[in-house]
Amino acid sequence: MSEDVSDQYLVDAAPTAFLHRGIYLLPCGHHVTADYLRAWCQYLLEQGQSRFTCPRFSKSRNKTCGAVLPYQSICQRARLTAEQQTKFEEILGALAAATLCDYKHCPGCHSNVERANPNNLCVHCTVCSAKRAKPFYFCWQCVREWKGPLYNASKCENEGCRPRQQESSSPSRLVLCKPEYKRQMLRNEQDDIYPSLDKSPSRKRLALLINNINFKHLEVRMGAEKDEENMARLLKDLGYDVVLLRNLTAKGMDTAIADFSKREEHVQSDSCFVVIMSHGGPTGICGVSYRKQNDNEKDMFCTNKIFDHLNTPNCPGLRDKPKIILIQSCRGHEEGSVDVHDSVPDNTRKEHREKDFCCLRSCTPNTVSYRHPRRGSAFFQEVVEIFYNHAHKNDIEELFRKVLKKFKETHPDQMPCKERTTLSKKFYLFPGL
Ligand SMILES: [Zn+2]
Ligand SMILES: [Zn+2]
Ligand SMILES: [Zn+2]
Repeated sequence: MSEDVSDQYLVDAAPTAFLHRGIYLLPCGHHVTADYLRAWCQYLLEQGQSRFTCPRFSKSRNKTCGAVLPYQSICQRARLTAEQQTKFEEILGALAAATLCDYKHCPGCHSNVERANPNNLCVHCTVCSAKRAKPFYFCWQCVREWKGPLYNASKCENEGCRPRQQESSSPSRLVLCKPEYKRQMLRNEQDDIYPSLDKSPSRKRLALLINNINFKHLEVRMGAEKDEENMARLLKDLGYDVVLLRNLTAKGMDTAIADFSKREEHVQSDSCFVVIMSHGGPTGICGVSYRKQNDNEKDMFCTNKIFDHLNTPNCPGLRDKPKIILIQSCRGHEEGSVDVHDSVPDNTRKEHREKDFCCLRSCTPNTVSYRHPRRGSAFFQEVVEIFYNHAHKNDIEELFRKVLKKFKETHPDQMPCKERTTLSKKFYLFPGL
Protein backbone atom coordinates (compact mmCIF):
# COMPACT_ATOMS: atom_id res chain seq x y z
CA MET A 1 0.00 0.00 0.00
CA SER A 2 2.99 2.28 -0.02
CA GLU A 3 3.33 2.42 -3.80
CA ASP A 4 2.32 5.41 -5.80
CA VAL A 5 -0.40 4.76 -8.28
CA SER A 6 -0.20 5.83 -11.89
CA ASP A 7 -2.39 8.60 -13.27
CA GLN A 8 -4.34 6.00 -15.18
CA TYR A 9 -5.12 4.08 -12.03
CA LEU A 10 -6.05 7.28 -10.27
CA VAL A 11 -8.67 8.13 -12.89
CA ASP A 12 -10.02 4.59 -12.96
CA ALA A 13 -10.19 4.11 -9.25
CA ALA A 14 -11.03 7.58 -7.98
CA PRO A 15 -14.81 7.13 -7.70
CA THR A 16 -14.38 4.20 -5.34
CA ALA A 17 -13.23 5.61 -2.05
CA PHE A 18 -13.25 2.40 -0.10
CA LEU A 19 -10.73 -0.19 -1.22
CA HIS A 20 -10.56 -3.04 1.24
CA ARG A 21 -10.00 -3.73 4.93
CA GLY A 22 -10.26 -0.10 6.03
CA ILE A 23 -7.84 1.28 3.45
CA TYR A 24 -9.06 4.27 1.50
CA LEU A 25 -8.06 6.00 -1.69
CA LEU A 26 -7.57 9.75 -1.50
CA PRO A 27 -8.37 12.05 -4.44
CA CYS A 28 -4.60 12.46 -5.02
CA GLY A 29 -4.28 8.71 -5.56
CA HIS A 30 -2.66 7.76 -2.25
CA HIS A 31 -3.88 5.03 0.04
CA VAL A 32 -4.47 5.68 3.70
CA THR A 33 -6.15 4.00 6.66
CA ALA A 34 -9.01 5.86 8.36
CA ASP A 35 -7.20 6.04 11.73
CA TYR A 36 -4.04 7.56 10.24
CA LEU A 37 -5.99 10.12 8.19
CA ARG A 38 -8.01 11.11 11.27
CA ALA A 39 -4.90 11.38 13.50
CA TRP A 40 -3.07 13.41 10.84
CA CYS A 41 -5.93 15.89 10.37
CA GLN A 42 -6.27 16.26 14.14
CA TYR A 43 -2.54 17.03 14.29
CA LEU A 44 -2.87 19.65 11.52
CA LEU A 45 -5.79 21.27 13.35
CA GLU A 46 -3.77 21.45 16.56
CA GLN A 47 -1.00 23.12 14.57
CA GLY A 48 -3.52 25.84 13.68
CA GLN A 49 -3.78 24.75 10.05
CA SER A 50 -7.19 24.93 8.46
CA ARG A 51 -6.23 23.09 5.28
CA PHE A 52 -5.91 19.33 5.27
CA THR A 53 -3.13 17.85 3.19
CA CYS A 54 -2.20 14.32 2.18
CA PRO A 55 0.45 12.93 4.58
CA ARG A 56 1.72 10.21 2.23
CA PHE A 57 5.14 10.15 0.62
CA SER A 58 4.98 10.51 -3.14
CA LYS A 59 7.58 8.25 -4.75
CA SER A 60 7.23 9.81 -8.18
CA ARG A 61 7.90 13.32 -6.83
CA ASN A 62 10.23 12.13 -4.07
CA LYS A 63 8.55 14.29 -1.44
CA THR A 64 5.58 14.41 0.89
CA CYS A 65 2.45 14.56 -1.29
CA GLY A 66 0.81 17.54 0.43
CA ALA A 67 -2.20 17.56 -1.91
CA VAL A 68 -5.03 19.58 -0.35
CA LEU A 69 -7.90 17.31 0.63
CA PRO A 70 -11.48 18.57 0.58
CA TYR A 71 -13.21 18.45 3.96
CA GLN A 72 -15.92 16.20 2.53
CA SER A 73 -13.41 13.56 1.56
CA ILE A 74 -11.91 13.66 5.08
CA CYS A 75 -15.27 13.09 6.74
CA GLN A 76 -16.01 10.27 4.37
CA ARG A 77 -12.64 8.53 4.57
CA ALA A 78 -11.55 9.24 8.13
CA ARG A 79 -14.81 7.70 9.35
CA LEU A 80 -15.44 10.48 11.84
CA THR A 81 -18.09 9.83 14.46
CA ALA A 82 -20.78 12.50 14.77
CA GLU A 83 -18.98 13.81 17.86
CA GLN A 84 -15.59 13.96 16.12
CA GLN A 85 -17.14 15.70 13.14
CA THR A 86 -18.71 18.37 15.36
CA LYS A 87 -15.37 18.93 17.10
CA PHE A 88 -13.56 19.16 13.76
CA GLU A 89 -16.08 21.67 12.46
CA GLU A 90 -15.88 23.78 15.60
CA ILE A 91 -12.09 24.06 15.41
CA LEU A 92 -12.23 24.65 11.67
CA GLY A 93 -14.81 27.38 12.15
CA ALA A 94 -12.67 29.10 14.77
CA LEU A 95 -9.61 28.84 12.54
CA ALA A 96 -11.46 30.24 9.55
CA ALA A 97 -12.79 33.11 11.65
CA ALA A 98 -9.30 33.85 12.92
CA THR A 99 -7.83 33.99 9.43
CA LEU A 100 -10.69 35.48 7.44
CA CYS A 101 -11.95 38.04 9.94
CA ASP A 102 -8.67 39.56 11.00
CA TYR A 103 -10.14 43.03 11.61
CA LYS A 104 -10.94 45.19 14.62
CA HIS A 105 -12.84 48.40 15.35
CA CYS A 106 -10.49 51.35 15.35
CA PRO A 107 -10.66 53.17 18.71
CA GLY A 108 -10.56 56.52 16.87
CA CYS A 109 -13.32 56.15 14.27
CA HIS A 110 -14.90 52.73 15.03
CA SER A 111 -14.52 51.63 11.43
CA ASN A 112 -13.37 48.08 10.69
CA VAL A 113 -9.65 47.99 10.13
CA GLU A 114 -7.91 44.98 8.68
CA ARG A 115 -4.46 44.06 9.87
CA ALA A 116 -2.00 43.90 7.02
CA ASN A 117 0.84 42.25 8.91
CA PRO A 118 -0.22 39.53 11.39
CA ASN A 119 3.13 39.85 13.18
CA ASN A 120 2.78 43.54 13.95
CA LEU A 121 0.48 44.79 16.71
CA CYS A 122 0.78 48.39 15.55
CA VAL A 123 -2.00 48.97 13.02
CA HIS A 124 -2.47 52.02 10.80
CA CYS A 125 -5.99 53.49 10.39
CA THR A 126 -6.36 55.33 7.08
CA VAL A 127 -9.69 56.96 8.05
CA CYS A 128 -8.32 58.54 11.23
CA SER A 129 -5.05 59.47 9.55
CA ALA A 130 -6.96 61.35 6.81
CA LYS A 131 -9.27 63.06 9.32
CA ARG A 132 -6.44 64.16 11.58
CA ALA A 133 -4.03 64.87 8.73
CA LYS A 134 -1.35 62.84 10.50
CA PRO A 135 -0.69 59.10 10.77
CA PHE A 136 -2.91 57.38 13.34
CA TYR A 137 -1.95 53.99 14.75
CA PHE A 138 -3.72 51.79 17.26
CA CYS A 139 -2.75 48.69 19.20
CA TRP A 140 -4.23 45.39 18.00
CA GLN A 141 -3.93 43.97 21.50
CA CYS A 142 -5.45 46.55 23.83
CA VAL A 143 -7.29 48.44 21.04
CA ARG A 144 -6.15 51.90 22.18
CA GLU A 145 -4.20 54.56 20.34
CA TRP A 146 -0.67 53.28 19.87
CA LYS A 147 1.88 54.43 22.42
CA GLY A 148 5.62 53.93 22.20
CA PRO A 149 7.91 52.95 19.35
CA LEU A 150 6.16 51.68 16.20
CA TYR A 151 6.69 48.11 15.01
CA ASN A 152 6.82 46.68 18.50
CA ALA A 153 5.51 43.16 18.04
CA SER A 154 4.60 41.98 21.54
CA LYS A 155 3.00 45.01 23.26
CA CYS A 156 2.50 48.77 23.12
CA GLU A 157 3.38 51.13 25.96
CA ASN A 158 -0.17 51.72 27.16
CA GLU A 159 -0.59 50.64 30.75
CA GLY A 160 -1.95 47.10 31.06
CA CYS A 161 -1.20 46.05 27.47
CA ARG A 162 -0.08 42.43 27.77
CA PRO A 163 0.44 39.62 25.33
CA ARG A 164 -2.30 37.02 25.52
CA GLN A 165 -1.34 34.02 27.62
CA GLN A 166 0.48 31.52 25.45
CA GLU A 167 -0.43 27.87 25.88
CA SER A 168 3.03 26.79 26.97
CA SER A 169 3.87 29.92 28.90
CA SER A 170 5.43 28.20 31.89
CA PRO A 171 9.21 28.53 31.72
CA SER A 172 11.10 25.49 30.56
CA ARG A 173 12.82 23.50 33.28
CA LEU A 174 15.49 22.45 30.82
CA VAL A 175 19.00 23.23 32.04
CA LEU A 176 20.67 24.85 29.05
CA CYS A 177 24.10 23.97 27.75
CA LYS A 178 26.78 26.63 27.84
CA PRO A 179 28.33 27.49 24.45
CA GLU A 180 31.84 27.02 25.90
CA TYR A 181 30.92 23.49 26.96
CA LYS A 182 29.73 22.61 23.46
CA ARG A 183 32.86 24.07 21.87
CA GLN A 184 35.07 22.22 24.32
CA MET A 185 33.28 18.89 23.77
CA LEU A 186 33.42 19.21 19.99
CA ARG A 187 37.13 20.01 20.20
CA ASN A 188 38.02 17.24 22.66
CA GLU A 189 35.85 14.44 21.32
CA GLN A 190 36.10 15.33 17.61
CA ASP A 191 35.18 12.21 15.64
CA ASP A 192 33.73 10.48 18.71
CA ILE A 193 30.77 12.81 18.81
CA TYR A 194 27.82 13.08 16.37
CA PRO A 195 27.87 16.39 14.47
CA SER A 196 25.39 18.84 16.01
CA LEU A 197 23.80 21.63 13.98
CA ASP A 198 23.55 24.99 15.70
CA LYS A 199 20.11 26.44 16.31
CA SER A 200 19.05 28.40 13.20
CA PRO A 201 15.99 28.77 10.96
CA SER A 202 17.54 26.31 8.50
CA ARG A 203 17.88 23.54 11.10
CA LYS A 204 14.75 21.40 10.94
CA ARG A 205 14.64 18.76 13.65
CA LEU A 206 11.59 16.50 13.57
CA ALA A 207 10.22 14.11 16.17
CA LEU A 208 7.32 11.68 15.83
CA LEU A 209 5.12 11.00 18.84
CA ILE A 210 2.46 8.29 18.60
CA ASN A 211 0.11 8.02 21.57
CA ASN A 212 -2.55 5.32 21.66
CA ILE A 213 -5.04 6.16 24.40
CA ASN A 214 -8.45 4.77 23.44
CA PHE A 215 -8.76 1.15 22.34
CA LYS A 216 -11.66 -0.80 20.92
CA HIS A 217 -11.21 -3.83 23.14
CA LEU A 218 -8.63 -2.78 25.78
CA GLU A 219 -8.88 -0.37 28.69
CA VAL A 220 -8.28 3.37 28.24
CA ARG A 221 -4.66 4.31 29.03
CA MET A 222 -5.33 6.75 31.87
CA GLY A 223 -2.47 9.20 32.37
CA ALA A 224 -1.31 8.87 28.75
CA GLU A 225 -2.20 12.52 28.10
CA LYS A 226 0.23 13.55 30.82
CA ASP A 227 3.03 11.52 29.20
CA GLU A 228 2.18 13.05 25.83
CA GLU A 229 2.19 16.58 27.22
CA ASN A 230 5.50 16.05 29.06
CA MET A 231 7.30 14.41 26.16
CA ALA A 232 6.00 16.86 23.54
CA ARG A 233 7.18 19.73 25.73
CA LEU A 234 10.61 18.17 26.32
CA LEU A 235 11.11 17.52 22.59
CA LYS A 236 10.06 21.08 21.72
CA ASP A 237 12.44 22.42 24.36
CA LEU A 238 15.19 20.33 22.76
CA GLY A 239 14.48 21.97 19.39
CA TYR A 240 12.31 19.34 17.67
CA ASP A 241 9.06 19.99 15.82
CA VAL A 242 6.75 17.26 17.08
CA VAL A 243 4.41 15.37 14.75
CA LEU A 244 1.82 14.13 17.23
CA LEU A 245 -0.53 11.35 16.14
CA ARG A 246 -3.08 9.70 18.42
CA ASN A 247 -4.94 6.40 18.35
CA LEU A 248 -3.44 4.53 15.43
CA THR A 249 -3.85 0.93 14.33
CA ALA A 250 -0.75 -1.17 13.61
CA LYS A 251 -1.19 -0.41 9.92
CA GLY A 252 -1.59 3.30 10.73
CA MET A 253 1.61 3.29 12.83
CA ASP A 254 3.48 1.51 10.07
CA THR A 255 2.38 4.02 7.41
CA ALA A 256 2.91 7.02 9.70
CA ILE A 257 6.50 5.98 10.48
CA ALA A 258 7.16 5.24 6.79
CA ASP A 259 5.92 8.72 5.80
CA PHE A 260 7.84 10.31 8.67
CA SER A 261 11.06 8.63 7.52
CA LYS A 262 10.68 10.31 4.12
CA ARG A 263 10.11 13.84 5.40
CA GLU A 264 12.40 16.30 3.62
CA GLU A 265 13.19 18.11 6.87
CA HIS A 266 15.51 15.28 7.97
CA VAL A 267 18.10 16.41 5.42
CA GLN A 268 18.37 19.69 7.36
CA SER A 269 18.39 17.95 10.73
CA ASP A 270 21.11 16.27 12.77
CA SER A 271 19.01 13.65 14.60
CA CYS A 272 15.48 12.46 15.27
CA PHE A 273 13.25 11.06 18.01
CA VAL A 274 10.45 8.52 17.62
CA VAL A 275 8.30 8.09 20.72
CA ILE A 276 5.55 5.47 20.96
CA MET A 277 3.11 5.02 23.84
CA SER A 278 0.58 2.19 23.89
CA HIS A 279 -0.45 -1.13 25.38
CA GLY A 280 1.81 -3.96 24.35
CA GLY A 281 2.83 -7.57 24.74
CA PRO A 282 5.73 -9.93 24.06
CA THR A 283 5.21 -9.70 20.28
CA GLY A 284 4.90 -5.95 19.87
CA ILE A 285 2.94 -2.74 20.41
CA CYS A 286 -0.87 -2.75 20.30
CA GLY A 287 -2.82 -0.89 17.66
CA VAL A 288 -6.12 0.61 18.83
CA SER A 289 -8.08 -2.33 17.38
CA TYR A 290 -5.89 -4.96 19.06
CA ARG A 291 -7.65 -8.20 19.87
CA LYS A 292 -6.47 -11.63 20.92
CA GLN A 293 -8.58 -14.67 20.11
CA ASN A 294 -7.30 -18.21 20.62
CA ASP A 295 -3.64 -17.12 20.55
CA ASN A 296 -4.35 -15.28 17.32
CA GLU A 297 -3.35 -11.63 17.67
CA LYS A 298 -4.88 -8.93 15.50
CA ASP A 299 -3.57 -5.37 15.09
CA MET A 300 -0.17 -5.87 16.73
CA PHE A 301 2.70 -3.63 15.58
CA CYS A 302 6.15 -5.20 15.46
CA THR A 303 8.89 -2.83 16.68
CA ASN A 304 11.30 -4.17 14.04
CA LYS A 305 9.42 -2.01 11.55
CA ILE A 306 10.58 1.19 13.24
CA PHE A 307 14.19 0.18 12.61
CA ASP A 308 13.37 -0.87 9.04
CA HIS A 309 11.71 2.41 8.10
CA LEU A 310 14.49 4.53 9.59
CA ASN A 311 17.47 2.48 8.42
CA THR A 312 20.04 3.72 5.93
CA PRO A 313 18.45 2.49 2.65
CA ASN A 314 14.92 3.56 3.60
CA CYS A 315 15.73 6.84 5.28
CA PRO A 316 18.69 8.49 3.55
CA GLY A 317 17.82 11.85 5.14
CA LEU A 318 18.94 10.49 8.51
CA ARG A 319 22.01 8.61 7.32
CA ASP A 320 24.84 8.82 9.88
CA LYS A 321 22.55 10.75 12.24
CA PRO A 322 21.40 9.46 15.64
CA LYS A 323 17.84 8.11 15.73
CA ILE A 324 16.49 7.82 19.25
CA ILE A 325 13.49 5.59 19.92
CA LEU A 326 11.50 5.61 23.16
CA ILE A 327 8.76 3.06 23.73
CA GLN A 328 6.37 2.88 26.66
CA SER A 329 4.35 -0.33 26.65
CA CYS A 330 4.01 -3.57 28.54
CA ARG A 331 5.87 -6.52 27.07
CA GLY A 332 4.13 -9.27 28.99
CA HIS A 333 2.43 -9.86 32.28
CA GLU A 334 5.32 -10.66 34.60
CA GLU A 335 6.64 -8.27 37.16
CA GLY A 336 10.13 -6.96 36.55
CA SER A 337 11.28 -8.17 39.94
CA VAL A 338 10.85 -11.83 39.02
CA ASP A 339 12.00 -11.47 35.45
CA VAL A 340 14.81 -13.87 34.57
CA HIS A 341 14.58 -13.50 30.83
CA ASP A 342 17.59 -11.94 29.15
CA SER A 343 16.87 -9.56 26.32
CA VAL A 344 18.57 -10.68 23.15
CA PRO A 345 19.06 -7.80 20.73
CA ASP A 346 18.23 -8.66 17.15
CA ASN A 347 21.58 -8.28 15.48
CA THR A 348 20.82 -10.21 12.34
CA ARG A 349 21.15 -7.17 10.07
CA LYS A 350 24.33 -5.95 8.52
CA GLU A 351 25.88 -3.18 10.52
CA HIS A 352 25.74 -0.55 7.85
CA ARG A 353 22.18 -1.20 6.90
CA GLU A 354 21.18 -0.43 10.45
CA LYS A 355 23.29 2.02 12.39
CA ASP A 356 23.15 5.09 14.62
CA PHE A 357 20.10 3.86 16.54
CA CYS A 358 19.46 3.92 20.24
CA CYS A 359 16.23 2.52 21.64
CA LEU A 360 15.07 2.69 25.22
CA ARG A 361 12.04 0.64 26.18
CA SER A 362 10.08 1.11 29.36
CA CYS A 363 10.70 -2.44 30.58
CA THR A 364 12.52 -5.70 29.95
CA PRO A 365 10.88 -8.40 27.77
CA ASN A 366 7.80 -10.16 29.18
CA THR A 367 7.31 -7.67 31.99
CA VAL A 368 4.80 -4.93 32.72
CA SER A 369 5.25 -1.15 32.68
CA TYR A 370 3.54 0.97 35.29
CA ARG A 371 1.46 4.05 34.65
CA HIS A 372 -0.15 6.43 37.13
CA PRO A 373 -3.66 7.59 36.10
CA ARG A 374 -2.82 11.26 36.68
CA ARG A 375 0.96 11.62 36.68
CA GLY A 376 1.55 9.36 33.67
CA SER A 377 3.99 6.48 33.29
CA ALA A 378 6.92 5.97 35.63
CA PHE A 379 9.10 5.65 32.51
CA PHE A 380 8.36 9.04 30.93
CA GLN A 381 8.29 10.81 34.29
CA GLU A 382 11.87 9.68 34.94
CA VAL A 383 13.04 10.21 31.34
CA VAL A 384 11.73 13.79 31.31
CA GLU A 385 13.21 14.57 34.72
CA ILE A 386 16.66 13.24 33.80
CA PHE A 387 16.74 14.93 30.38
CA TYR A 388 15.76 18.28 31.90
CA ASN A 389 18.49 18.09 34.53
CA HIS A 390 21.36 16.32 32.78
CA ALA A 391 21.08 16.75 28.97
CA HIS A 392 23.24 19.88 29.15
CA LYS A 393 26.28 17.82 30.13
CA ASN A 394 25.61 14.11 29.37
CA ASP A 395 25.29 12.23 26.09
CA ILE A 396 22.20 10.12 25.34
CA GLU A 397 23.61 6.80 26.55
CA GLU A 398 24.65 8.33 29.85
CA LEU A 399 21.16 9.85 30.16
CA PHE A 400 19.64 6.41 29.57
CA ARG A 401 22.02 4.87 32.11
CA LYS A 402 20.82 7.43 34.64
CA VAL A 403 17.21 6.43 33.89
CA LEU A 404 18.11 2.78 34.53
CA LYS A 405 19.91 3.70 37.74
CA LYS A 406 16.85 5.63 38.93
CA PHE A 407 14.67 2.58 38.32
CA LYS A 408 17.15 0.30 40.06
CA GLU A 409 16.96 2.52 43.13
CA THR A 410 13.28 3.43 43.23
CA HIS A 411 11.13 1.11 41.07
CA PRO A 412 11.79 -2.52 42.09
CA ASP A 413 9.09 -3.89 39.77
CA GLN A 414 10.22 -2.34 36.52
CA MET A 415 13.51 -1.98 34.66
CA PRO A 416 13.79 -0.05 31.38
CA CYS A 417 15.85 -1.72 28.71
CA LYS A 418 18.20 -0.35 26.08
CA GLU A 419 17.91 -2.26 22.82
CA ARG A 420 19.46 -2.51 19.38
CA THR A 421 21.85 0.30 20.09
CA THR A 422 24.16 1.02 17.17
CA LEU A 423 25.51 4.42 18.13
CA SER A 424 29.16 4.54 17.11
CA LYS A 425 29.63 8.01 18.57
CA LYS A 426 28.34 9.97 21.52
CA PHE A 427 25.13 11.90 20.94
CA TYR A 428 24.89 15.16 22.85
CA LEU A 429 21.70 17.22 22.65
CA PHE A 430 23.36 20.52 23.66
CA PRO A 431 20.01 21.96 24.82
CA GLY A 432 19.43 25.59 23.85
CA LEU A 433 22.24 25.67 21.28
ZN1 LIG B 1 -1.39 12.18 -1.74
ZN1 LIG C 1 -9.72 55.09 12.82
ZN1 LIG D 1 -1.55 47.93 23.52
